[in-house]
Amino acid sequence: MASPPEALAHAQLEWDTPLYRMAVAQFDQAVPVAGIAEDTAERLRYPERSTIVSIPVRMDSGRRVVFPGYRVQHSSITGPTKGGIRYDADVTLGECAALAMWMTWKCSLLRLPYGGAKGGVRCDPHGMSPGELERLTRRFTSELLPIIGPQEDIAAPDMATNEQTMAWMMDTYSMQRGYAVPEIVTGKPISIGGSVFRHEATGAGVVMVVSRACDRLGWALAEQRCVVQGFGNVGGIASLELHARGASVTAVSDVSGGRHSPDGLDVPSLFEYAREHGSLENCDAGERISNDELLELECDILVLAAREDQINAENAPHIQARMIVEGANGPTSLEADAVLWERGIPVLPDILTNAGGVTVSYFEWVQDLGRLFWTRDEIRAKLEAKLSDAFDRVWDLAEERNVTLRMGALVAGIREVSEALEARGIFP
Ligand code: NAD
Repeated sequence: MASPPEALAHAQLEWDTPLYRMAVAQFDQAVPVAGIAEDTAERLRYPERSTIVSIPVRMDSGRRVVFPGYRVQHSSITGPTKGGIRYDADVTLGECAALAMWMTWKCSLLRLPYGGAKGGVRCDPHGMSPGELERLTRRFTSELLPIIGPQEDIAAPDMATNEQTMAWMMDTYSMQRGYAVPEIVTGKPISIGGSVFRHEATGAGVVMVVSRACDRLGWALAEQRCVVQGFGNVGGIASLELHARGASVTAVSDVSGGRHSPDGLDVPSLFEYAREHGSLENCDAGERISNDELLELECDILVLAAREDQINAENAPHIQARMIVEGANGPTSLEADAVLWERGIPVLPDILTNAGGVTVSYFEWVQDLGRLFWTRDEIRAKLEAKLSDAFDRVWDLAEERNVTLRMGALVAGIREVSEALEARGIFP
């Protein structure tokens, strides 16, 4: 197999983007620490399959618009690929390739029998009606039929997609098969085989990991002042969980901007407000601040739960939090990681911290395949056990090798999947 400099002609690869390069750069830093063979590493630098489709949609006005759609499957070494579908104006093949690679490490870190995938449609979901979104989702699913399946590739919600999107995907797939196939997607409504607790799983899992980290650092979670960027599925639930555990949430934000109150915000009321109005834009809690200001507020715990690329070389020196928590995927750049490590600010990395979502998705898939459903308490307890086990392996590895928690998480995940690849070998 070619050596990396020859093989990595990134400029010629269709998925080459800054985010994909960042995912590969993180992987390259982890390879020597993980101690895996270079030809094994070389296979894992590339997604197995990258699909681009064009999706014609009849808009309410009668006009037809064609949207680009993507699905990237990074690794099927240990099982079907698994990953979210996002609707966003900035989705690209390269963004999906990076996120799919991170999903592989996340699944293997959690010891779930999946590889990573990610997909999305480049569109403005907030400017589309429910009917337009339904037609978009059904046609996107139809275009993906040759490459998805309960044993091949299983979708889940991500940015601007939700239970309803998954219900449309499940229905579209099932209509082609002639019978209900709930296990084709996760994060769907409970009435069609969804799992209780899936909706809250990522945000609740974030706080389970934060709580474990506080225990290791000797901090009492209930005494911490927390700031949360992003108030959607992950950030909204994480804020509620932090509040319920007695921590003070002093600022939250969504795409419209932030709200700040040094004495702590009334999170349940804000959550209700956002649910009713769709955003925090016109709410009058606390003082209004910008998202940039929010990131630099003085606090103990800063939860990043909006999107990628939020802490970078420019703002990392000004961060005043004592711990950073990645609820979103890829919110901290490589340069920022180095600055934060230098400053002694621990970063709880995305592939560990937001893994509650895919873990409960795995539980949902297992329940669907077995047609046997578990209670909320059973699921919460199984999730806590899985996350705690992964957290302890990451923390111990990072301490033992004197590396960041991100490096610990990547090394733990990459080792699992490379061991499986070496056992299987390369076909033919
Ligand atoms: P969501 O669409 O429900 O919420 C995103 C939130 O971020 C919204 O409140 C939005 O207004 C806000 N936001 C967007 N851009 C912003 C900006 N520039 N500044 C501040 N806020 C901004 O999406 P989600 O499901 O909560 O996903 C958030 C992140 O978590 C994404 O990176 C996603 O990939 C990741 N994630 C989600 C899950 C899940 O189960 N939903 C699981 C793992 C990882």
